Amino acid sequence: MKPKQFAVIGLGRFGSSLALELMELGYEVLGIDRNEEVVEDMSEHLTHTVVADATDEEMLKSLGIRNFDCGIVAIGDDIQMSILSAILLKELGVSTVVAKAISVLHGRALQKLGVDRVIFPERDMGIRVAHQLVTPNLLDY
Ligand code: ATP
Repeated sequence: MKPKQFAVIGLGRFGSSLALELMELGYEVLGIDRNEEVVEDMSEHLTHTVVADATDEEMLKSLGIRNFDCGIVAIGDDIQMSILSAILLKELGVSTVVAKAISVLHGRALQKLGVDRVIFPERDMGIRVAHQLVTPNLLDY
């Protein structure tokens, strides 16, 4: 069976760590970021990397984005960019779209667009660490 293909949009701390872990787990990962330096740093670690603006619809089409099993919008700070790229991934037919939110309202907007899973990294990690702190001998994964 063909390994799952992931497209990670935005290679900041969250996006790059997610992309590297997916590679570690044996999946194919396309990383997209508009910052050339960021892409250069990641280029030898991911299956493919592209310097591009994630809101460029023609570029996403030319990358064959609809053939990806999962697209992750890992842009946080710029809510407009996050929302626009999430809409494009949904409209272009990516099977599962996951997006990072930086506030409750941002998360609600992403859900309304039909994003399949919204992640709140700090909140989710806080919950996870709390559980780890009170659960003796719990393995990290
Ligand atoms: P992190 O906490 O994951 O480091 P951040 O919140 O500090 O992220 P963001 O503004 O979310 O930083 O940006 C994450 C990455 O997304 C950056 O590397 C940035 O260059 C990239 N990025 C932002 N907007 C776009 C866009 N429209 N197209 C492509 N990449 C983008």
